[in-house]
Amino acid sequence: MSIKKRFIIASILAFVLPLVLIFLVSVGVGAAAVINAPQELTDKIFFRMSEIDRDIAEESVRPGGTFFKYIMIWLVAVFAILVGTLFGTVFFLSRRIVPPLSELKKAAEKITEGNLDFEVLHSNVAEVNELCVAFDDMRKRLKASVNERLVSERERNQMMANISHDLRTPITSIKGYVEGLRDGVAATEEMRDKYLNTIYIKASAMEKMVEQMSDLSELELGKMRFDFKVEDGGGFVEDILDEFRSDLDDETTLDYSPPIGRIKLVMDREKLRRVFANILGNAVKYREKGRPLKIGVTAEIKDRGLYVIVRDNGKGIPQEDINRVFDTFYRSDPARSEVKGHGLGLAISKQIVERHHGKIWLKSEENIGTEVYIYLPEYKEEHKV
Ligand code: ATP
Ligand code: MG
Repeated sequence: MSIKKRFIIASILAFVLPLVLIFLVSVGVGAAAVINAPQELTDKIFFRMSEIDRDIAEESVRPGGTFFKYIMIWLVAVFAILVGTLFGTVFFLSRRIVPPLSELKKAAEKITEGNLDFEVLHSNVAEVNELCVAFDDMRKRLKASVNERLVSERERNQMMANISHDLRTPITSIKGYVEGLRDGVAATEEMRDKYLNTIYIKASAMEKMVEQMSDLSELELGKMRFDFKVEDGGGFVEDILDEFRSDLDDETTLDYSPPIGRIKLVMDREKLRRVFANILGNAVKYREKGRPLKIGVTAEIKDRGLYVIVRDNGKGIPQEDINRVFDTFYRSDPARSEVKGHGLGLAISKQIVERHHGKIWLKSEENIGTEVYIYLPEYKEEHKV
């Protein structure tokens, strides 16, 4: 029942009920007085109106008079009726409103104390119930946002732990090799070259990671500068693959199926080159041991854009990890793979492709292979570069 209805009923009760009760009490007390009073007195007062004996009538209502106690009874009854209906009305109005409101007060206190694991009671007064529902909704949202904050804090801590670990490991080994050189452990020219080479490789890996980190934060903060130019899509993919081919071993084949026709794309060549370098690099890194690696690249003009699909026959990605490989620092089952990586390549690639208004996603099956899809929209004359 709504508060409005409740007020209407309460107002009716507050007026009508006392009137009816007072009427009934008056009739009852009056009748009792008449019945119990001496016949002669009632005759004089009630039945011979024209000859009312004023003195007798006045006398009968004074203290000690015949009707005095009935008047007192009537007054007490009227008083009781007025007080009773007043309290009754207040009780009727507040019974369904006050308890949920005090519940809400308690709930607000709990939230202030940081407790969000409770449920706010509902009320059958419509407006109060709406308030309870809105309050509970607010509690749920607050809880979700607190949980989100906790998750992102946890992820941040995990990220810090990853960064420290990924940097500490090469630093420790660089220190070890430098000490080896300083203390003369690397006695021969050959050993010294080997040590220096290892130091160079470790330092380069650290440099790559720091660069990736700074790329990622620049991308996330929207501070990375893009040098967009209009280029031929198919030609660009061909150039990248030519560059990449020279690094492949004899166990790897790379096939390219170019698009039919030409398509103009707006792109930052260098940034997109990094995207493809990571995807092709992943195909090589996550190849299945003992199986010749086959990489197939298809470029197709469709849906007013260019699709580039990079397929490999490598280890593949477990289904439960597929949606997470684009997350920062996510590496699918790192223990399973002894391959080096920081889990940043795809996260950076995604941001770069999205800055080109494109999309990137992948399909994969464990032990069969992976297909990475990139869609880049076509350049239109009205687009500003
Ligand atoms: P880096 O930051 O050096 O690129 P990474 O290669 O581990 O490190 P991503 O390129 O972001 O990071 O890839 C994330 C994860 O996705 C990889 O660790 C790997 O588990 C999985 N993955 C990506 N591409 C492939 C692929 N072609 N085959 C199998 N697994 C892949
Ligand atoms: Mg990678």
